[in-house]
Amino acid sequence: MKHRSEFEKVVYDGKFRILISEEKIEKRLRELGKQITEDYRDKNPIMIGVLNGGFIFMADIVRHVEIDLEVDFIKISSYGNATTSSGEVKMLKDINAEVSGRHILVVEDIVDTGLSIRFLEKKFLELEPASLKFVSFLLKKDNARVEYNIDYVGFEIPNEFVVGYGLDHKQILRNLPAIYVMD
Ligand code: 5GP
Repeated sequence: MKHRSEFEKVVYDGKFRILISEEKIEKRLRELGKQITEDYRDKNPIMIGVLNGGFIFMADIVRHVEIDLEVDFIKISSYGNATTSSGEVKMLKDINAEVSGRHILVVEDIVDTGLSIRFLEKKFLELEPASLKFVSFLLKKDNARVEYNIDYVGFEIPNEFVVGYGLDHKQILRNLPAIYVMD
């Protein structure tokens, strides 16, 4: 039997259900970009992408924000190869920028239990920014384990494991252009 990649199985075998199409993503990016552009005018924000999952959303959203901005990246541990949170967050790579007195906008792929957001909020507040806000492409509202506040949300989704648009399953499938649900 011909070898097929996981990518092909998702796209051609219908093993995964599409949840958010490329068209819907593009439309929402335009709306979010417009809102962020208005809110951060003259603020020269620093947008901090959370790796790995946030890399595609980060690349797309900055191109929809039409003001001067800077970027940096932080890498924190997520689920490893599991599909549920371990409950523990570790920092794997810190930012390099000096953010004291700056307007920080953290760019996340997805908020699930909220533990990562709480970890990042505590870390960045200690650096005394002028302001700290969060944008997350996806939000699993019903799975919150701690209290958190997200300022901009792309889409609220049900409590299901999703892949694509930066989000992985065992490190692959991040390059799918839309969001799929694993059945
Ligand atoms: P939290 O700390 O809010 O529980 O989880 C945040 C992180 O868990 C995300 O940045 C992401 O890496 C991972 N995550 C949460 N839900 C999903 C999901 O449905 N699919 C994938 N691929 N990763 C997820």
